[in-house]
Amino acid sequence: MLPQVIIIGRPNVGKSTLFNRLVGKKLALVDDQPGVTRDRRFGDAHLLGLDFQAVDTAGWEDDDPQSLPGRMRAQTEAALTGADVALFVIDARAGITPLDEEIARWLHGSQVPVILLANKAEGRAGESGILESYALGLGDPVPISAEHGEGVADLFEALLPHIEGREADKPIVDIDADEDRPLGPLKLAIVGRPNAGKSTLVNRMLGEERLLTGPEAGITRDSIAIDWTWRDEKAGEVREVRLIDTAGMRKKARVVDKLERLSVADARRAVDFAEVVVLLLDATKGLEHQDLKIASMVLEEGRALMIAINKWDIAENPSGLFNGIRQALDDGLAQVRGVPLLAVSARTGKGLDDMLRAGFDIREAWSKRVPTSALNRWFDDALAANPPPAPGGKRIKLRYITQAKTRPPGFVLFGTRLDMLPESYRRYLVNGIRRELGFDAVPIRLTLRSPK
Ligand code: GDP
Ligand code: GDP
Repeated sequence: MLPQVIIIGRPNVGKSTLFNRLVGKKLALVDDQPGVTRDRRFGDAHLLGLDFQAVDTAGWEDDDPQSLPGRMRAQTEAALTGADVALFVIDARAGITPLDEEIARWLHGSQVPVILLANKAEGRAGESGILESYALGLGDPVPISAEHGEGVADLFEALLPHIEGREADKPIVDIDADEDRPLGPLKLAIVGRPNAGKSTLVNRMLGEERLLTGPEAGITRDSIAIDWTWRDEKAGEVREVRLIDTAGMRKKARVVDKLERLSVADARRAVDFAEVVVLLLDATKGLEHQDLKIASMVLEEGRALMIAINKWDIAENPSGLFNGIRQALDDGLAQVRGVPLLAVSARTGKGLDDMLRAGFDIREAWSKRVPTSALNRWFDDALAANPPPAPGGKRIKLRYITQAKTRPPGFVLFGTRLDMLPESYRRYLVNGIRRELGFDAVPIRLTLRSPK
């Protein structure tokens, strides 16, 4: 059940325009049930990470817009009953009319919280209407322009406390609501320097007989996808995996000079099709500069990254090697913390199930969405624990944060004087999101935005 936001106002103030902007192309249905709900339009709305159901009441209008028909009153009262918050829209250009005052009086008598929206506020023509609207006794008006999309951030801020309460019922962390579809096969790419053991690893995972029949589907000339099922013995589950491979890997492997199979270029191609990328290292070589370059590229492309140390069967001083690589990764990859590091052997099959399991887990973190309410609870705590600096004696004001996208996770931070925000503070926030909200090892994007 989404929180419900009802749009109310006299005819022509811009209710439908606002509804269409909130709902966008996602208009779920136009409810044409007979009876009380006949003229309501419902739509799934999305505003900077807030999800709610918007209800447009534009259809209630009577032929005579100067009077308040009984039917409209009944409709409004019925609709208000189910709503979490009402957006009361006035026309800032036209100023306050008697009908606006009458609607305001009802709203005073209702239990539903009201946000006063002064629409058509673009330019200066709305200024006096905005001032007049204080007289309605509904608090500060939020100036917006439904037609031009202005005031969206302010509307978001006004809605947040009302929707927050409802959203709090949800678990802290849930899978992306945008993508109701299941995640599908895990799209996994194996990259690494020549001779790391990529072909051997792929052979091992697929089983020899499968390989003889060759790849089944070509995505492009250079990349190959192989769909297969992996039996997770530990979980007693069968899971779908799509292995993204670069062309040279099997067929050309023995023919073409290995150095020619440029690892960075190969990786870049594979990354285009993958959700999770495994960077394969050679235990006899350790972590080299080229590996860090590939790892950085994978993260810059926004993919989830794992590192597997191959040829573990012939590794010398395994624990020293493992710890050394762990340390080098933490030092060398500033973008992420705690990238999964696994020891495997393509030759013996050791560690391959753990590697695949880790792949599914990290994809989940990469795909998940944190509800805005939970995010802002964390945000308030983070600011309280370490307030943003005040360069030149003027405080940088950070107002709220929302997760705008997933796969990879992207966050938008709203505030003022954001151009003054030091990089160290930004890192503090990003690390906090990572640690406290379960985005370890996932590349995160944080965009700063000042509302107009
Ligand atoms: P409703 O009857 O309340 O649903 O109003 P509509 O959404 O149908 O809008 C009424 C008129 O106001 C239309 O001509 C819209 O194009 C116009 N309108 C809506 N929003 C704005 C706005 O933000 N600025 C301006 N200037 N006109 C708007
Ligand atoms: P690619 O260039 O990354 O595809 O590497 P290959 O799969 O062709 O492997 C390069 C060499 O490493 C081959 O001689 C493999 O037999 C060997 N190799 C691959 N994986 C392992 C492993 O887990 N253990 C050992 N001991 N050798 C391996």
